[in-house]
Amino acid sequence: MPPKLLDDCFLHDKDRLRHDEALALLKGRIAPLSATERVALADAVGRVLAEEVRAPRPVPAFDNSAVDGYAFSHADYLAAKGRLKISGRVAAGHPGSGPIAEKTAARVFTGAVMPEGADTVAMQEDVTLEDAGGDELAVIPEGLKQGANRRKAGEDLAAGEVLIGPGRRLRPQDLAAIASTGTAQIACHRRLRLAIVSTGDEIVRPGHTLAEGQVYDSNVYLLRALLETIGAEVNDLGVLTDRRDAVTAALADAAGKHDAIVTSGGASRGEEDHVVKAVEAMGKLHMWQLAIKPGRPMGFGQIDECLFFALPGNPVAVMVCFLLYVRPVLLRRSGADWPEPRRYLLPAAFSMKKKPDRREFLRGMIVADAAGRQTIDKYPRDGSGLVSSLRAADGLIEIAEEVISVSPGDPVAFIPFDGFGGY
Ligand code: AMP
Ligand code: MG
Repeated sequence: MPPKLLDDCFLHDKDRLRHDEALALLKGRIAPLSATERVALADAVGRVLAEEVRAPRPVPAFDNSAVDGYAFSHADYLAAKGRLKISGRVAAGHPGSGPIAEKTAARVFTGAVMPEGADTVAMQEDVTLEDAGGDELAVIPEGLKQGANRRKAGEDLAAGEVLIGPGRRLRPQDLAAIASTGTAQIACHRRLRLAIVSTGDEIVRPGHTLAEGQVYDSNVYLLRALLETIGAEVNDLGVLTDRRDAVTAALADAAGKHDAIVTSGGASRGEEDHVVKAVEAMGKLHMWQLAIKPGRPMGFGQIDECLFFALPGNPVAVMVCFLLYVRPVLLRRSGADWPEPRRYLLPAAFSMKKKPDRREFLRGMIVADAAGRQTIDKYPRDGSGLVSSLRAADGLIEIAEEVISVSPGDPVAFIPFDGFGGY
């Protein structure tokens, strides 16, 4: 049996949550779904590993040459002052040629097994060949250190070494490491099944003509693409009109088939906002007041085992709320370790004043100063409906609660859009 969600996992008793309180609460209460499946390595990028992967054998499996060149015993090289007869040849992919004859060098190629007794390789570009009465002589320059151009067995991974632990989202280089140990299939958490819903009588899908008062649905594209970055399967349930019965029926059906539902719009307590009331009637929903800017109440809830996020309708709020709260919760639910954003402290190229009681997330751009150093500027306009601001930005500037002003040159924390963790 998978661990069940807490009966009311988003309940709390604060009027207003600080950002770090919100994260601590979410981090403490959201547990991964436990279902796992075997996944072929070729399909595993972005999947969350459910087991520990160990190297069953050392990588590389044998000492080998790192270059095309000549392999020899370093002691022989010193004794013969770099002049060694050539006695054998080993190409990559072929068994070794046995022990190397004393005081000789073997012709080797990149990846070839090191001949027994040889511990050093000279690059072919540095070696000149001489004819010594019918024998070929390699003339090797001075100064090579013992072990030069040789790769030791196990220098990448030791036999038995744990290369990746459970909870890791697999990156291309992780797949390469797993493949290098010979493993072709791994146990991963199953992908989350998510539903996205747009709401509002004014919302129309692109491709249709727009009547007066209507707005094209841009959030669905924003949300779908954002959710796909966490490796989820995303189902678009379309646009719900502002009618209680329609909203209730659609959400009840979706809750039984998905691990989470994310809605945009209709998340206030206005009389045209039916999402909140519909979810409250079927499960639990809490409108969190977060002490952040851009701040609008955001809904966290559940219908049985299905998580529910009611995002505001404005695109800037959608993206910011998604990155700050929805993304870590869903990554954790999908089995990943709780992601920690990567913050860079960079000098501000702007000035601002702010209230002390809330944390602000500004849309920020990396700009070079006169000396070519990276600084962070803030997007000049404020509107939370401006998709342009999200496009101009490289990430979010995070200004802590206690800060009341920023002057040019002050260090500010900057989180690039791809720095929200989870990889
Ligand atoms: P609401 O949260 O429903 O009050 O909506 C806030 C603002 O966001 C309104 O101007 C809506 O028209 C707009 N909005 C809501 N949903 C979408 C959407 N799917 N795409 C673009 N804009 C939206
Ligand atoms: Mg609305």
